[in-house]
Amino acid sequence: MQDIPVQTDIATAGKTVPEATNLLGLDREGLEQFFLDMGEKKFRATQVMKWIHQLGVTDFEDMNNLSKDLRRQLAEKASIDNLEVARDLLSSDGTRKWLLKLADGNHIEAVFIPEDDRGTLCVSSQVGCALDCSFCSTGRQGFNRNLTSAEIISQVWLASQLLEEEKKPGRKITNVVMMGMGEPLLNFDNVVRAIRIMMDDFAYGLSKRRVTVSTAGVVPAMDRIGDILDMRLAVSLHATNDALRDELVPVNRKYPLKELMAACRRFIDKQNTRTRITFEYVMLDGVNDRPEHARELIRLLKGIPTLMNLIPFNPFEASGYSTSSRKAVAKFSEILQNAGMTTVTRKTRGEDIDAACGQLAGQIEDKSRRHRRFAEPRFGME
Ligand code: SAH
Repeated sequence: MQDIPVQTDIATAGKTVPEATNLLGLDREGLEQFFLDMGEKKFRATQVMKWIHQLGVTDFEDMNNLSKDLRRQLAEKASIDNLEVARDLLSSDGTRKWLLKLADGNHIEAVFIPEDDRGTLCVSSQVGCALDCSFCSTGRQGFNRNLTSAEIISQVWLASQLLEEEKKPGRKITNVVMMGMGEPLLNFDNVVRAIRIMMDDFAYGLSKRRVTVSTAGVVPAMDRIGDILDMRLAVSLHATNDALRDELVPVNRKYPLKELMAACRRFIDKQNTRTRITFEYVMLDGVNDRPEHARELIRLLKGIPTLMNLIPFNPFEASGYSTSSRKAVAKFSEILQNAGMTTVTRKTRGEDIDAACGQLAGQIEDKSRRHRRFAEPRFGME
């Protein structure tokens, strides 16, 4: 493991102007409106998006296709404020993780996971999480607040800039998964805005197949996002019957499996191109990893185009669970594959840097407010 010294010039990039609009978090439509309100032409939006997201420029003075007068006005009215890099860790397997400090002192995490044919950035959507899944380190920390769209996209901005500085092949973000801290569908508007920036050709230009929103199953919001965005959906399933899922993923008490499966079918029907839903299934020793669970899973997902992701449980202190044996995972995977289900067993990455989501931020928050929970779990805020 390598603890990369944090460069303060990047950590504090951008100007802090009181009451200024942070342009980082505005999607194309929002930026166009911003320029129209200034009495400027709409096309300024794409020019500025390119400067910010593609060229990494945070000083309006450097945007030399804008008039001097416009640059001066922007310096007064707007800012390009990024999060502060508190820690920057590089794992021996190439995974790189950032602990990022928000302006209010909270911390979140973003993780870059390189693979042979892609580079995936795992992005957080909230500080903490309200859903209280029993095996999740972030869930144990309780809920604090939603991230703004600027705080979400800043993770992508910083990761792109810092990876580019490595000047090594294969260190580029080709995919984004909203699988970091928080439940993205409970921070709906900001997540949608940030995804629009990720997908914009004048910003990160990621295709709809390369952006994934992962949800524990907030059914009404699954419908809403399917109506307005084409993107990949991942559903954190983890259990094959309501009794067990109520315990592991408590939002199931509000939206039980029957409703969740119906929402998955509706989502598939809405997408413009043929797509599959990724189902995530964390393998917990003796809890959900027996052959009968695999068979129940096959019945449950019948008729839904599925990519099954078996995830080895990432243990953390006092979680009360342990990781399934390799043998149990192999057997489980074999039963699913024999039934024709595309099944991938996820490799555990970045173990030496606590890349299991939420661990590092959890340690920091714990030190200052041990045992304090931010809020009672709240479900279905949509
Ligand atoms: N709230 C969203 C996204 C964040 S969690 C969701 O539930 O999908 C991203 C994924 O990591 C989920 O599938 C979650 O269940 C899984 N996860 C959480 N804690 C884990 C742990 N300790 N080990 C392995 N996977 C975990």
